[in-house]
Amino acid sequence: MIELTDVRKVFPARRGAAEVVAVDGVSLSVADGEFAGVVGPSGSGKSTLARLVNLLERPTSGRVVVDGQVLTDLDDDGVRQARRTVGMVFQHFNLLDSRTAAGNVEHPLELAGVGRSERRRRVADLLDLVGLGDRHASRPAQLSGGQKQRVAIARALAARPKVLLCDEATSALDPASTTGVLDLLRQVRAELGLTVLLITHEMAVVRAVCDSAVLLDRGRVVDGGPLTEVLTRPHSPLAAQLLPAPA
Ligand code: ADP
Ligand code: MG
Repeated sequence: MIELTDVRKVFPARRGAAEVVAVDGVSLSVADGEFAGVVGPSGSGKSTLARLVNLLERPTSGRVVVDGQVLTDLDDDGVRQARRTVGMVFQHFNLLDSRTAAGNVEHPLELAGVGRSERRRRVADLLDLVGLGDRHASRPAQLSGGQKQRVAIARALAARPKVLLCDEATSALDPASTTGVLDLLRQVRAELGLTVLLITHEMAVVRAVCDSAVLLDRGRVVDGGPLTEVLTRPHSPLAAQLLPAPA
């Protein structure tokens, strides 16, 4: 479903700042329906990698394929179309404060030109799916962090993506809300047959839900494979460092 081949992203030097190689030759492959994790410390290139997967950033070199489409071969219009395949969820939710929960979920459907009655129906289904069927009229300020992230997940699913990309989706949440959101991701992945790419600095989060994991350090993949392998025989000092103490 996701195939990166030797992807590099170099931010050029600017205003006295040196050039930054944010992603340095990453290859990775995520199968249809897989729940895959990317773990690495702050600054290791995780968010840049997320933005490369849906071509919010164009790679300096390398190939990005999502759902069989070679995104790096498409022009800007093609990329905009193809981006609908990928839904995104962020650490700080990025909800519109002036809109209700329903209004936030409806927003991408408005942009996509979906008719009003169809929009209403889908919004109701999506809010039910994320367990907020009784909070249609709530504004973000009236919701907890976990509830805001549920709204953001519903919004990300509105355009019926095949891939859900989560960048530090639980990093602003307390442990109980984190567990709730991870359970929800697992549930929607199973119900909708989604592929999930979960990006986080916390190995414990990956360990809770992922089938496979890739470890990122300074823009490079330093370890990766089925979760059980990554957890039981770390190939790198970073892996050992990221692994939580045995429970
Ligand atoms: P992470 O999400 O793992 O914390 P990022 O992908 O945000 O890492 O950043 C990786 C590196 O790329 C950092 O050194 C960061 O400062 C740099 N970087 C990210 N985005 C930009 C940008 N738009 N311009 C210049 N440098 C950037
Ligand atoms: Mg980040």
